[in-house]
Amino acid sequence: MGGLPCASKCGNKAVLKRPKTGAALCKPCFFWSFETEIHFAIVDNGLFERGDRVAVGASGGKDSTVLAYIMKTLNDRYHYGLELILLSIDEGISGYRDDSLETVKRNSQQYDLPLKILSYEELYGWSMDRIVAQIGLKNNCTFCGVFRRQALDRGAALLGVNKIVTGHNADDIAETVLMNILRGDVARLQRCTAITTKDRDANSTDLPRSKPFKFTYEKEIVMYAYFKGLDYFSTECKYSPNAYRGHARTLIKELEKIRPSSILDIINSGEDLKFTNLVEEKLPTKSKCTKCGFMSSLSVCKACLLLEGLNKGIPQLGNAQKMKVYWHVP
Ligand code: SF4
Repeated sequence: MGGLPCASKCGNKAVLKRPKTGAALCKPCFFWSFETEIHFAIVDNGLFERGDRVAVGASGGKDSTVLAYIMKTLNDRYHYGLELILLSIDEGISGYRDDSLETVKRNSQQYDLPLKILSYEELYGWSMDRIVAQIGLKNNCTFCGVFRRQALDRGAALLGVNKIVTGHNADDIAETVLMNILRGDVARLQRCTAITTKDRDANSTDLPRSKPFKFTYEKEIVMYAYFKGLDYFSTECKYSPNAYRGHARTLIKELEKIRPSSILDIINSGEDLKFTNLVEEKLPTKSKCTKCGFMSSLSVCKACLLLEGLNKGIPQLGNAQKMKVYWHVP
């Protein structure tokens, strides 16, 4: 940083430039800014109440490792009164998830947080290795994403927690907004920017899920993990062909070079979209899956449909038709 003084005027020399604000900061001031912004995202949005039992979705990757560390740090510092439990889903991807789960096991000891691991194999009778062997590398992430979402709910039910937090960061949310716009997926577009499902699904029995990193840049998560020396796993999934998200990511990175606020701008745009009454009426309502009893917007949930397709050897069975609805920017 060429010997610049820390922008917070603490007297230290700056060692980094914050990607989010451009401020040159020393390490302690960066840690404090990063942690305090997340604290305010939690408090201002009323994500937790004293006594909540909270499952932290933990994969061993940088986002969830930093999330577990931050949740523990803020819970201790600000006396949130939360009981935190790490919940990991083992998709059954050899050479990837088995290694990353070893990281989660170490994190559990390092942060003194209990850990529960649930596998696709035990929940669905299929590992991702076997699913990919059957369906190839085309729709594998659809199966994996649908199963993981439900697996977190199943794990949360087993643990008796009343809330779930995940490490989705601002970059992830901006990518999702863009992808939903490009696909015309109004149902997902309407809900993907919410920091918590608590208010959105007020009448639902679904467990509230929150994203405390909604306003946190991925680059800063990496910086924080690096400067704190956190123990995380950084290998890409070997079945990661998610080309569509990759294009959205590349586009946002290009936009960011010209306009550093692009990530938050896209999130704000997603939040500001207004939906017509016609659209609201057409959005699916949530109920319980008649087969497994977990939340679904169809009578039989997508996880059960996909599983039935796998078991019958017709994996395309679960690829339901997309709903066509309309949205507008006022
Ligand atoms: Fe699952 Fe796809 Fe992610 Fe791999 S890249 S863990 S297959 S969703």
